[in-house]
Amino acid sequence: MHKYFLAIMILLLTPILSFAAGRDDLVGLCYHQVEPKASGKFSLSTEKFRAQLQYLKNHNFVSLNSDDLENIYLKGSPMPANAILITFDDGYKTVFDYALPIMQEFGFKGVVCIYPSFIGAGKAMSWQQLKRLLELGWSVESHSMTHANLASKADQPMAEEEFFKKEIVAPKQIIETKLGNHVKFMVWPYGCYTTRTIEAAKKAGYIGALTVDGGATGKTESPFQIKRQVVYASDDMNKFLIRLGMRAIKIDEHHPAPGLVTSNLATFSCRLPELTDYSPEKFVLNAKLTGHKTTFSFDPQTRILSGTISGEAKPGNHFFDVYLRDKKTGITGQHGWLFTVSGGKTRNSY
Ligand SMILES: [Zn+2]
Repeated sequence: MHKYFLAIMILLLTPILSFAAGRDDLVGLCYHQVEPKASGKFSLSTEKFRAQLQYLKNHNFVSLNSDDLENIYLKGSPMPANAILITFDDGYKTVFDYALPIMQEFGFKGVVCIYPSFIGAGKAMSWQQLKRLLELGWSVESHSMTHANLASKADQPMAEEEFFKKEIVAPKQIIETKLGNHVKFMVWPYGCYTTRTIEAAKKAGYIGALTVDGGATGKTESPFQIKRQVVYASDDMNKFLIRLGMRAIKIDEHHPAPGLVTSNLATFSCRLPELTDYSPEKFVLNAKLTGHKTTFSFDPQTRILSGTISGEAKPGNHFFDVYLRDKKTGITGQHGWLFTVSGGKTRNSY
């Protein structure tokens, strides 16, 4: 009896990676525009947007704002089941005109990520409209001053300091002065960050950052590594559900480290500490680097995944993704991060 009890206890205490039916990770969605008729890569039709929110409502997703994130990631509050972060980048007026009424209809609150040089201009929201969003429980966060790629001066430390003052420090102060809110998160333009942009954001008083790294975010992740899935106008419901369905996977010992700027890279590795019961019969493991071919292997003893990039990683920003699919349930986890190979164009399209 005792022995049996002990065995059960050990089993309960051993972290086994399993994707439970209910979710305890955070799904982040990154929208840009919502309009009666879709126009362009990042502008969804109201019809498509409504269908996505209807799905979230039907499946009991709970929307969070920045205060909720702070409570969860910095103050130890529990993650609600089916937590979702619905964000809108850039500050387009279409968010106020078309997304807001639909969000209200379903009882969701959002996070708007703005860059002050755009606000008040033709296609942007006004400060007054942003104030209204705050009154409705939304959050307004900083998406830099001019939508600059913050990784673009990584090889010029002197220029970079001034650049960060303008693009990271100033927008927080401007938004807070205009709206009277507390700006808590830095939202990287084009999803581009480096270890130095993270340091600068911490110094400026931000408590975290929103990325467009792939996957969902686990409760123990750093608040500077909050992941969001970009929602494209061309996504059909099936594609949306794939993005939504990606679960958080715990990963540490990343090489290259998230935000690393390096002059060349031919190998990669990371550890999946919770993948204690790996077997190729149970799981499909994959490691992808956009635009490159990779080969890798996984050592179940050390739980380290390691591999090589055929050729070398090209200059620019790179999103690296690890995927883990549970064959039995079909549920897939994703953990993505970004690094930069210096010497080339460092620009993505959002
Ligand atoms: Zn943007």
